[in-house]
Amino acid sequence: MSESFTRAAAIKLADNGARALSAPQRLTVLGATGSIGLSTLDLVSREPERFKVVALTAQSNAENLAKLAIAHRADIAVIGDERCLDDLKSYLAGTGIEAGAGEAALIEAAARPADCTMAAIVGAAGLKPTFAAARQGRRVALANKECLVSAGDVFLAAIRASGAELLPVDSEHSAALQSLAGAERVAVERIVLTASGGPFRSWPLEKLREARPEEALKHPNWSMGAKITIDSATLMNKGLELIEAYHLFPVGVDQLDAVIHPQSVVHCLVHYIDGSVIAQLGPPDMRTPIALALNWPERRVTPTARLDLVTIGSLTFEPVDEVRFRGPAIAKAALARGGSAPAILNAANEVAVAAFLGGRLGFLDIARTVERSLEAAETRGLIRATESLDDVLAADADGRELARHTIETQN
Ligand code: NDP
Repeated sequence: MSESFTRAAAIKLADNGARALSAPQRLTVLGATGSIGLSTLDLVSREPERFKVVALTAQSNAENLAKLAIAHRADIAVIGDERCLDDLKSYLAGTGIEAGAGEAALIEAAARPADCTMAAIVGAAGLKPTFAAARQGRRVALANKECLVSAGDVFLAAIRASGAELLPVDSEHSAALQSLAGAERVAVERIVLTASGGPFRSWPLEKLREARPEEALKHPNWSMGAKITIDSATLMNKGLELIEAYHLFPVGVDQLDAVIHPQSVVHCLVHYIDGSVIAQLGPPDMRTPIALALNWPERRVTPTARLDLVTIGSLTFEPVDEVRFRGPAIAKAALARGGSAPAILNAANEVAVAAFLGGRLGFLDIARTVERSLEAAETRGLIRATESLDDVLAADADGRELARHTIETQN
């Protein structure tokens, strides 16, 4: 490969040298009780001899965290909400597993020596622990989108400075990584991420206005946490993924696109200058990209259903309807605007999604809130350069405040 397919040359994504696994891989899972965390630990439980679990974390689910820590013989379990520490300690009593709580303890756990960290905390709450993991200079399997969306350049600088390896877990980016193998940068024309279209793909605008949280939470293909499931229904998830792709792969904003593919079989298509298109296909089961991120460059057996294209019959593709689903267009505009705009977008979206799930905001108002928050940030001169994690966290706080104000006054 004459030019690395990572925006940051020091990221060893393209390093195909097999890693000798003489000893078990020390693994930490941030967000162990979530959808990605549980899928990761499911794979670990199938090959326990390959992994030594160091730390597992959660936010408030003390009972499940303790069960997982005991089942996987973790060294330490950390809960974000300090009010849950007593529960966690009592569930772990007599096991010899350490218990910790609070933000500082999460960061300390993420900084404990590990060969690989699965970064699967949802939202901007994952920034500080994932940065702590990145600073170790080992492997970061990145599910948490916010490190790239809100903190893209700052996060990649941290990865580069420590010499860490960054492996994408998102199925689309894992697919892009595989479809770009062996490619030269100049040979790539476009990277197209697929989106299922979510549960409202065929709903008219009028009906979308009335969409309820319980309907939005019914994803047709994927089983995921609540936040990303709502983002899939609004298609903001695809917008966030376009920003992630921009940071992971050295292409311009105008070389990135999204297409609706309801079957969720093709995850990404890379278009080359000679007219070739290389795509990666797989079942809609996160254990496939998770296994690749944990074991890269090796492929290991996974228990996922095998693709049967004859049974599936046809694979279809449609354009994104930017009137009904504003997410990708808003995200691309924020990416083009640069600076703290993507961090403000992400924070405003987190607040809007929480308000929708809490019954305080309509479905279409999620994108409207994000767009208005970005407009307000521009008007007030709040879109600035982000050069450090503190700058990103300040932009995140601005985005939350603007979104709360927008929800109270404008929707
Ligand atoms: P879930 O909501 O299922 O799980 C989130 C995890 O983070 C849980 O362990 C939760 O603990 C913990 N957590 C929540 N809030 C905090 C907090 N404030 N501080 C510390 N820990 C916290 O999310 P997913 O597994 O679906 O997603 C995780 C990340 O991966 C997200 O960024 C998502 O966008 C990304 N992703 C997910 C995919 C999927 O298929 N699910 C696909 C691609 C990317 P507790 O259980 O105690 O609340």
